Amino acid sequence: RERAREVLESGARRGSNRLGVEAMELLDAYGIPTPQGDVVSSPVEAEAIAEEIGDDVVMKIVSPDILHKSDIGGVEVGVPVEEVRDTYEDLVVRARNYQEDATILGVQVQEMVDLDNGVETILGMNRDPQFGPLLLFGLGGIFVEVLEDNTVSVAPVSENEAKGMLDDIDSAPLLRGARGSEPVDEATLVETIQRLSQLVTDFPAIVELDINPLVARPDGVQAVDLRLTLD
Ligand code: ADP
Ligand code: MG
Repeated sequence: RERAREVLESGARRGSNRLGVEAMELLDAYGIPTPQGDVVSSPVEAEAIAEEIGDDVVMKIVSPDILHKSDIGGVEVGVPVEEVRDTYEDLVVRARNYQEDATILGVQVQEMVDLDNGVETILGMNRDPQFGPLLLFGLGGIFVEVLEDNTVSVAPVSENEAKGMLDDIDSAPLLRGARGSEPVDEATLVETIQRLSQLVTDFPAIVELDINPLVARPDGVQAVDLRLTLD
């Protein structure tokens, strides 16, 4: 909880109420699994992180002025180590083309998550002045707008309420191994919903938060992206 407070304070100190993947440690602090990686501010540092990860990586521009990173070409998936330095420069150029005076905090270098054996879900929160923190869980990724398959619960949620959220969505069979795929780790998914519930209960200053995607896999879950707003 102390660690989480520090992450939020260092975000607020930068004078922006919008935080992105640079605040991923907030999730770690609450036991929500995130892929290995870090945010760095130079091509050389980016290469060092990729070498540490030891495989192709994902690279993302980190800027409070860029809400949807992939919309501006700010996400590169499957970057080999030898291309990391050039890709760093490319991402910064694209961000500058989009908005010349954008604040650029750096670039995130992140371990690849296997999406083939996973389901992209979305886990979020919207603080309602009347009802309090509303947790949202649903199908994420490319389906999020087309299918609008999600469910809402007021935090804090019990284990049974979190389980109920999984049951609630129409795509529940997808999580449970429809079409011969292996079922996702439901217990960890339920635990993750509860952990986010705890996080937003502990920090009323968070008015909005989105983990999209939260990749649900047979061997656990991975929060791949984060965006939040402080009041
Ligand atoms: P944004 O939502 O701002 O465009 P994301 O971080 O969500 O940025 O990345 C966009 C998409 O790229 C994700 O929905 C996912 O499909 C893919 N992606 C992002 N990070 C990873 C990763 N670590 N491993 C595999 N795919 C990823
Ligand atoms: Mg995203």
